[in-house]
This record gives sequence, structure tokens and C-alpha cells, in this order.
Amino acid sequence: MGLNHLPKHVPLANLPTRIEKLERFTKAMGGPEIWIKRDDQTGTELSGNKVRKLEFAIQEALDQSCDYLITCGGIQSNHARATAVSAAKLGMGAVLLLVGEDGIKPEGNHLLDLLVGAEVRFVSGKDYAENRQSIMDGIRTELQEKGHKAYIIPEGASNGIGAFGYVKAMTEIHQQEKELGFQFDCIVSATGSGGTYGGMLLGDALGGHARRMLGFAVGKDRGYFQREVAKILTEAASYLQEVPRHYSEIEINDDYIGKGYALSSPELIEFIRDFARLEGIVLDPVYTGKAMFGLAEEIRKGNLKDCKRLLFVHTGGLFGLLGKAGDFGQIAGR
Ligand SMILES: *Cc1c(COP(=O)(O)O)cnc(C)c1O
Repeated sequence: MGLNHLPKHVPLANLPTRIEKLERFTKAMGGPEIWIKRDDQTGTELSGNKVRKLEFAIQEALDQSCDYLITCGGIQSNHARATAVSAAKLGMGAVLLLVGEDGIKPEGNHLLDLLVGAEVRFVSGKDYAENRQSIMDGIRTELQEKGHKAYIIPEGASNGIGAFGYVKAMTEIHQQEKELGFQFDCIVSATGSGGTYGGMLLGDALGGHARRMLGFAVGKDRGYFQREVAKILTEAASYLQEVPRHYSEIEINDDYIGKGYALSSPELIEFIRDFARLEGIVLDPVYTGKAMFGLAEEIRKGNLKDCKRLLFVHTGGLFGLLGKAGDFGQIAGR
């Protein structure tokens, strides 16, 4: 089906990423085999899931002869950082609208944003929630008056075009399954704005599969993501000549959000520490740590008994962790 007819993309990521078995974690959990896809290794400066989505979004910007990228996110946005780095790699300008205020000491992703030359503009949380689109439109007009043409990428590049990054990732997984000689029954990931999840669901359907796809929400609730993913799928379909008739169910678990987006409990931080010591793999507190914690709990509760082999997609986030030394400081050493 349509897999040969994906939109064009600009190659930025280090692909394919490896799939490894989590030997000791699998043993400790005593449940299904747990494997991990290392999308935290899509690059160094470009590490994480966002670069896959940006490969497609930025190609669209280049096709429209744009020389600037505008996007938005939290102060430790992995997406904003990946956009800033991609812009620098392609000789484009970048303006980032981040939630924060002047005087913040740059750390983690924010520090990298500045290092690669992106212009950062701060907004309040309220303005971000209510007016970010009109503010970004205003920046585009401002750039236009200076002779530039800017392309606006929505939060997380989670729109129709961005989702193709994970349609393509799914074809990569299909190929790797051929090499491994088996198929995963369930694919697990963290869901922040829905593009990764939506892209994988579409990619699996285009490949003729309909396997269980489990997303752990990290901020907003299940209903929100069911609507959001459906919207992304509709938008993505407009780029395809042929649309799949069957998708897997949109299965979002919102039981492990905790206190809210980007807020972490000591229990979560301890889980991340223990996992790092067990496997030598660092999860982040905002996304992948919450999702892996949720997965461990679900296995413990016996809710994944029908799965023999799970694939957890490690979507990155290391720089965000480095921007949260305050939360980790005391626990890491214990
Ligand atoms: C953005 C992000 C996610 C969530 O991906 P979405 O496509 O926004 O749902 C997961 N993990 C990390 C590390 C991220 O930066």
C-alpha cells in the first residue's frame, strides 16, 4: 500500500536506530519480553523523536522557499531545541516561542537553543495556551517585513506532515522485525502532543498490520489524545493517495501523569535512577520515564498478559533531564 508514496523529507536524523532487548529489566519484571528502540540516538544535538517529524515538516518549508522556522514549546522543549539545531544545520534562521521569562539561567535544551543561534522569545503560560498561534503569526509578519519567509511548525511538529516521521519509523520497525525474525505484539511510547503515536498508528496500518499500540499520556488526558490523534490522522491522510481502512484502536493510558506535565514525584526519579543502573539507559522525567514507569506498573497489575514481546520507543529527552538537576541532585547519589 501507500508506503512507497510518503511525502519527501530532508535527511537530518541518524537512522535506522537500534532495537535492543532489555535483558535485566525483562527478568526483573517477570512478564513479557521488553525491547527498546533507541530513538534517543537519532543524533547528538538532534537526539530524540522530534527530528524524525522535522525531516518532513522542514522539507515542506524548503519546498515553500522559506528561510526561517518558527516554533513553540516549554522552556525545556526538546522539539524547540531540535528545530533550532535543524535550522542551524540547514543555514536557516529560527525563532522559538518558549514559556518562561527574561532572566532565566539557560540550561539543558534552552542552553542549546541559544548556542546554535536561535532567537528565543518568552511568553507567559497563559499567553502560550491562548494566543501562541497569533503570536507566531505576528513573528512571521515581522520577518516578512525584513525580507524573510518563515514557516510555522506547530507544537511538537504534531500535525499531518510531521506525523510522517513516525510513519517512516514504523516502516523501519517492520524492516527490523524481518531481520529479528519475529513481530512485536505491542508498541509502547510516551504521548505528549500525539504526533509520534499518530504516525506509528498510520504507519502500522499502511504496512497492513493492526497491532496493539499503547501510548502513555504525560500531561493531557485520554479523551484529548483520542481527539488529537484522530485529527492528526485525518490531516496526514490528505498527503496520501491511498488511505488504510483499518487502524488499531487509539489506546491511551493516562493513569501515570502524576502531578502534571513536566512535574515529577520522588518515586518517578527513583525509578529513573534504578532503571539507569539496571540497563545503562537514561530515561527522562517528562516523557520516557513516566511511560516506562507506567509500563512497569501495568505489567505488575497483569494488564499486559496477552503480550509476548513489547517494543518501547525511547523518544529521547536527555537534555531536558540535564535541565532538571534540582530534582535529581539528591536522589541520584543514593
Ligand atoms: C515530544 C516528546 C515525546 C512525545 O511525542 P509526541 O509526538 O509529542 O507525542 C516523547 N518523548 C520525548 C522525549 C519528547 O521530547
